[in-house]
Amino acid sequence: MWARSCFLTRLVASSVKISETAGGVIKEILCGGELKIVDKGGNGKPADLQTEADRAAQYCIVRSLHKVFGDNLTIIGEEDVTSYTPKIEESYCAKVLSLDERCPADLRGIKPEDVVIWVDPLDGTVEIANAAKKTPAVLAQVTVLIGIAYKGRPVAGIIHQPYYEGHETGRTVWAINGVGTYGMDYVKADNKQQKVVVTTRSHGTSSVDAALDALNKKGLADQVVRVGGAGYKVMRVLEGAAAYVFASQGCKKWDTAACEAVIEGSGGRLTDISGRMLNYDKGVQLNNSGGVLVTSCWVDHQEYLGSIPQSLKDGLPEFQAKN
Ligand code: AMP
Ligand code: MG
Ligand code: MG
Repeated sequence: MWARSCFLTRLVASSVKISETAGGVIKEILCGGELKIVDKGGNGKPADLQTEADRAAQYCIVRSLHKVFGDNLTIIGEEDVTSYTPKIEESYCAKVLSLDERCPADLRGIKPEDVVIWVDPLDGTVEIANAAKKTPAVLAQVTVLIGIAYKGRPVAGIIHQPYYEGHETGRTVWAINGVGTYGMDYVKADNKQQKVVVTTRSHGTSSVDAALDALNKKGLADQVVRVGGAGYKVMRVLEGAAAYVFASQGCKKWDTAACEAVIEGSGGRLTDISGRMLNYDKGVQLNNSGGVLVTSCWVDHQEYLGSIPQSLKDGLPEFQAKN
C-alpha cells in the first residue's frame, strides 16, 4: 500500500503516527513534572512559554519526518530549541493509505521538495504551564499540529489531541483536500439553538472583546467559551461550536495550517477577520496579523465576517508593521 500511494498520502499517513508518538512524548514529560519552562518573549508582552515537552515533541516530529522522507523536506517548527528524545516514528496509519485513490489528481504529483510543513509540536502550552492543577479539562487543550502547504495553501493537516477522556491514546483528526476530514464524527448540520463561539483564554484584548460583542448583538455569538489552543478551539468547532473568533495578533502560521486543512475538509472555513486567505509559503510572515476567523460548515462565514466592525479590521492589517 505504501509504495503504491502518492507522496501526499504517504506524508499524511506517516504524520498521523508521528503526531501520536509526539503526543506520547508530551504525556511522559507532563507526567514526570519537570517542565523546565522558558519565556520565549521576555519583553513585557503576554508570556510566550515553552516547556521541555514542546522541545522534545518538535525533535520527535522533525527527526521522524526527515528519517522517513529524507532531508529534502522543508519543515518550519515553532521551537528554535529542541530536546533529544529517542522516540522516532517510522510507521504509518493504514487507514490514510487505504484512501489514497481519493486523493485528487492535482495533488498526486506533489513531491517532497514542493511542500512546506508547519509544525506546532504542542499547542496550548500556556494553559498547561499556568494551570494550578492538570485536570482533564486543562489537558484536553493540548494538541499536536502538523500542517502541509503546497503553493502557499494548506492541502492536508493533522490535529492530534493526546488527552481525550476515556481514550488512552487520545484522538487524531486528519484531512487531505478533496478527500475529507477523518478521525471524528464532526457536526454537519445546524442542530443548535444557541450559537457558541470559542475564543482565546490567555491572549484576550479589547479588540477580541469588541468583535465578540458585535457578533453577540447580531445573534451570532449567544455564548462565548474561552479555551486555550488553536487546535483545541478547532476541535470544539468540529464538535458543534459555531465559530472560533480571534480578533487580535499573535496566532502564528503553525497554529493555523493544520487547522485550516481540517476545518476546510469538514466544510467549514478559516480566514483572517477581514476574509483574507492565509499564505503558508516558506518565508512568509509568521504572525497571522489579520486575526483568525474559523466557522463551522453549518454557519455562514460571510455573515460572521460582515458582522465584525470595519474599525477592528482596519486595526488588524494583513501585514505586520516592522518595528
Ligand atoms: P490562544 O487562543 O490564546 O490559545 O492562542 C492560540 C495560539 O496562538 C497559541 O499557540 C498561542 O500561543 C498563540 N498566540 C495567540 N496570541 C498570542 C500572543 N499574543 N503571543 C504569543 N502567542 C500567541
Ligand atoms: Mg500554538
Ligand atoms: Mg506550541
